[in-house]
Amino acid sequence: MAVKQEFQAESKRLLELMIGAIYTQREIFLRELISNASDAIDKIYYKALTDDSLTFNKDDYYIKIVPDKANRTLTISDTGIGMTEEELVNNLGVIAKSGSLAFKQQFEAKDGHNIIGQFGVGFYSAFMVAETVTVISRALGSHKAFKWESSGADGFTVEPWEKDTVGTDIILKIKANTEEDNYDEFLEEYRLRQIIKKYSDFIRYPIKMDVTRT
Ligand code: ADP
Ligand code: MG
Repeated sequence: MAVKQEFQAESKRLLELMIGAIYTQREIFLRELISNASDAIDKIYYKALTDDSLTFNKDDYYIKIVPDKANRTLTISDTGIGMTEEELVNNLGVIAKSGSLAFKQQFEAKDGHNIIGQFGVGFYSAFMVAETVTVISRALGSHKAFKWESSGADGFTVEPWEKDTVGTDIILKIKANTEEDNYDEFLEEYRLRQIIKKYSDFIRYPIKMDVTRT
């Protein structure tokens, strides 16, 4: 069993905001996760420019979105640079980036339910739609993979895992519907396509999603 680790205090607070708040713009979680996936591919791209041992073969780099209604999961995968065990702990357990921190400060200053769309809210926005977030990642240059998992502000676990290829899978266990809130839409292909078109049209890597024929 992996040991539970605590979030840094700032992270914990932001995470609680994400879990508890009532947003009209929950859909932006997908923009955030796709933007992180794109950043992760960019990192390989820029590395390849200066590292002769690396070649950037365009077809190998993409983002894939897989909704699974039966299991109520939405998976966002990328073939980007991945994260080591240490990076999983440091990058996902701490608000390192000023963007997320600025958002949190604005939010607290102005009760900012409607400012959420304007900010790079970051990874924790996944908790607006997911009860559990699982990140399976293998870093470039490493043969080891790790699984990071959290069900909320009380902490996260990291443990060794299996992954055949370099990159990251973010698996969201989508929340159950409540009387006020419907989360099923985030498992619907047409709805996901709509959100991708609205927020992620400019992403320069392919965003793939299989078409289910019924
Ligand atoms: P930001 O994107 O502004 O840095 P985020 O909260 O969105 O902040 O993400 C935090 C950090 O987690 C990123 O800076 C990155 O280091 C890491 N990260 C998140 N998603 C991925 C991913 N798909 N692949 C690699 N690293 C990631
Ligand atoms: Mg980000």
